[in-house]
Amino acid sequence: MDIFDKCFKFTRAQETIQAGIYPYFIPVSGNDGPVVQMDGHEVIMIGSNNYLGLTHDPRVIEAAVEATKKYGTSCSGSRFLNGTLDLHIELEEKLARFLNREAALIFSTGYMSNLGAISTIAGRDDYLILDKSDHASIYAGVKAANGTNIKRYIHNDLHSLEKVMSELEPDKGKIIISDGVFSMEGDIIDPEVIKIAKKYNARIYVDEAHGLGVLGEHGRGSIEYLGLEDQVDIIMSTFSKSLAAIGGLIAGPKPVIDYIKHFASPLIFSAAPTAAATATVIKTLEIIENEPEHQKRLKHTSSRMRKELKNIGFDIGHCQDTPIIPIYIRNDEKTFYFWRQLFDHGVFANAVISPAVAPDQALIRTSFMSTHSDEHLDKVLEILEKVAKQIGLI
Ligand code: PMP
Repeated sequence: MDIFDKCFKFTRAQETIQAGIYPYFIPVSGNDGPVVQMDGHEVIMIGSNNYLGLTHDPRVIEAAVEATKKYGTSCSGSRFLNGTLDLHIELEEKLARFLNREAALIFSTGYMSNLGAISTIAGRDDYLILDKSDHASIYAGVKAANGTNIKRYIHNDLHSLEKVMSELEPDKGKIIISDGVFSMEGDIIDPEVIKIAKKYNARIYVDEAHGLGVLGEHGRGSIEYLGLEDQVDIIMSTFSKSLAAIGGLIAGPKPVIDYIKHFASPLIFSAAPTAAATATVIKTLEIIENEPEHQKRLKHTSSRMRKELKNIGFDIGHCQDTPIIPIYIRNDEKTFYFWRQLFDHGVFANAVISPAVAPDQALIRTSFMSTHSDEHLDKVLEILEKVAKQIGLI
């Protein structure tokens, strides 16, 4: 037996490449936000999480460049030892203030934020209760929480959650962990989930990766949108979407953040976010706070596209007030084929199959940006409809 046997037997990706329908790892050679050069094609991008289009804002680029000039390209070490910049502290204070939390802590990616925070707060006798559709990085944190009791409930299903909660030992520590906006389905945490947490004396942790900058009057995310900010204990989010950088954050009560800061391996044993990424987020946060027009435009675009895609006859599931609109195909090969046809016609969306979604839920994930013009959106709708008709999807 060779440990590499499984690798030699893995041929599916190569087969899909040979068939010309492989939708992953396509190199981008130019990017102006809504229009991107990919693999020699110019495509309208409807597969990015750059929701507010801030990755190309000249003020943001300047902030990143100036920070790089001042601090260099790398921190060359972890926050714990030698990699903490005054910029990191400034950003943490700004995030805590923006989110109305006692404290915030930044990590080098959103994935590491979930991995570090969840694995650190989970003790051997505690319960972690997850929505089945939670993001992979939440699962990574749960897996790393050695020996903790893990329970899962059906996605946003209150009966399922009640059943799980009612069977737990009442005197044990508990936390419900849920995406605020579900990244593939484009729906929002049911507010009752937060209320059920309170009923059973459980803490609640919400991942706002896709909510921050997008939902709520001030862009604070799904829990602001739901009017439940004061009910939530921990907020996690990422910098890689509306905040136009890379990195992640955890915010909540000061003693909890302080504990995570001193025990989370992904923080202590991995290098700190770059000055460029940190300065980028300081600037994008300022823009989000002062220029609500980006969020407003995104909201308008998202509701138009939801309506139009539904009218064309696509199955868009239960997506709500978010820029993420899934088109359910429910078959892997057909999803890849549809993806390829869209690409050839000048549109890039994401082909999503298991394990990112359940095996029978393959979909094309579309996501929109405030910087898509009406002309981009008209063109996208025309191509989606034409290709879907050609392949008999509608
Ligand atoms: N949580 C959710 C819900 C996400 O969608 C993602 C990334 N797609 C992450 C966490 C991880 O964030 P990052 O890309 O910054 O590692």
